[in-house]
Amino acid sequence: MGFTPQIKEDALVASGRHCCICHRFCGTKIEVHHIVTKRDGGEDSFENAIPLCFDCHADMRSYDHSHPKGCKYTIKELKRHRDNWYQKVAGNVGTANREEVVETDKKVYRTLLKFLPWNGTIQFLRDNNFAGASFERSETKDLSKYWEQCQNPLFEFIDPDLEGLRADLTEKIRVMKKAIALETFPAHINGCNSVPAEWEFEQPERFRRAVEALHRSADDVCEAYDSLVRTATRKLGILPDDMA
Ligand SMILES: [Zn+2]
Repeated sequence: MGFTPQIKEDALVASGRHCCICHRFCGTKIEVHHIVTKRDGGEDSFENAIPLCFDCHADMRSYDHSHPKGCKYTIKELKRHRDNWYQKVAGNVGTANREEVVETDKKVYRTLLKFLPWNGTIQFLRDNNFAGASFERSETKDLSKYWEQCQNPLFEFIDPDLEGLRADLTEKIRVMKKAIALETFPAHINGCNSVPAEWEFEQPERFRRAVEALHRSADDVCEAYDSLVRTATRKLGILPDDMA
């Protein structure tokens, strides 16, 4: 036995098909899991169910410290994450009215744009050709600054759509940081990195894979950033330039 279709449906509706841990919108790429596993006597009840994305589910069962949320969750913690997220989706966020929610989310958005302005690393990722010349490592510094800010638990939108998009951007940035760390190396020019130019002749296949991974990740970051900005403009009624 597992969860009944009704319980699954209730859990998916309550979560808005977002992952209750990382908050990404998952659509069909979501699973309803047991908080207390069947092996440990967990029930097939709504109370024991938590919708999770595939990545967070994989992390729950392992000690993958490479993932930012890689330490093992307690049952209490999982329930709190879930209940907080369900409340967000239901619009029960403890604040009095819509205006207060918008004001708070504007502050979060302002912080996000401060750490990740459109004309900083984002612009660099849009334009840079990783198959070309080396790039200054400082060009990518916004990613680290944003990443640090993500460790602050208050850095979270109240609005579930915006929060889902922010979570998606965060994940794309994690992958981008990893690609830069794995595929680029200090170049001959001080403070610069590049995909090693000699690879192009010595290991052309390796070179091609590295450049492709970097460009794909860069496109994903910019796409996630643009979706968030478009939705924030619509929902919060402000343009990024108004934030300066
Ligand atoms: Zn997740």
